[in-house]
Amino acid sequence: MEHSVAGRSVVVTGGSKGIGKGIARVFAGAGAKVAILSRGLDQAEAAAHEIGMGAIALAADITDEASLAEAMAKVAQQFGGIDVLCANAGIFPQARLDVMSGKEWDHVVGTNLKGTFLSVKTALPFLKRSDQGRVVITSSITGPVTGFPGWSHYGATKAGQLGFMRTACIELAPFGITVNAVMPGNIKTEGLFDLGAEYEKTMAASIPLKRLGVVEDIGHAALYFASKEAGYVTGQTIIVDGGQILPESLEALNA
Ligand code: NAP
Repeated sequence: MEHSVAGRSVVVTGGSKGIGKGIARVFAGAGAKVAILSRGLDQAEAAAHEIGMGAIALAADITDEASLAEAMAKVAQQFGGIDVLCANAGIFPQARLDVMSGKEWDHVVGTNLKGTFLSVKTALPFLKRSDQGRVVITSSITGPVTGFPGWSHYGATKAGQLGFMRTACIELAPFGITVNAVMPGNIKTEGLFDLGAEYEKTMAASIPLKRLGVVEDIGHAALYFASKEAGYVTGQTIIVDGGQILPESLEALNA
């Protein structure tokens, strides 16, 4: 499986930190040419340097079509094309409904959902030219399967990404491009760290495997969807959550 990704050109949005950096590291380890995109160039460069293996860094904002288009063109020029887009960048600020402003809603939807669309749209001219075009979206269990107070906007975007995927995969099938999504549970990242130690402790206790995931857990799932071996898999999801969504009650979890 890793073998078929070697030499492929891979773009990872939000690759400077967290899950994206884990995805970038796993793909680079499999011999892929990896381009890390994020708004902050310094942090993207630091991640590329840390990963090594020829990884490059570019500044791009997934809410800004022009900046994405420019970055995709640069990657294609440097790597000789784009074979895989990992549409991973996303934000998860918390706000309960009674205090959430329309602006906050738009910011999360504009980043996570429209940003996914714009990432796919700007990578598409290059993916079409690949003989193994792949889109791997980082969704979540929050929204498609579960809920969490403060994340109604976030959950809507993560469920929305799957709706987007189900039509995108039909539209892109004639070009041999597959579109799939990884649905992480709680993964240890810088973004999650901001939610505090108590959040992490409570979450770990609610997961059958009794730990949060590591970023490479998501990277390996993404690698599968990007592989040649997954060439007949499109419009599908994989939940990577340590069994978090399974217990029907606290009693079931602790029995
Ligand atoms: P993170 O540690 O906060 O990293 C987010 C990454 O996205 C950073 O590289 C950030 O870099 C980039 N980013 C944010 N806004 C961007 C924008 N407008 N344009 C370009 N890049 C942008 O987050 P994470 O926890 O790794 O989450 C990554 C993805 O996994 C998200 O889609 C999230 O919904 C999903 N997810 C995470 C978890 C979890 O437990 N951590 C669970 C389920 C799903 P800059 O700030 O420099 O742009």
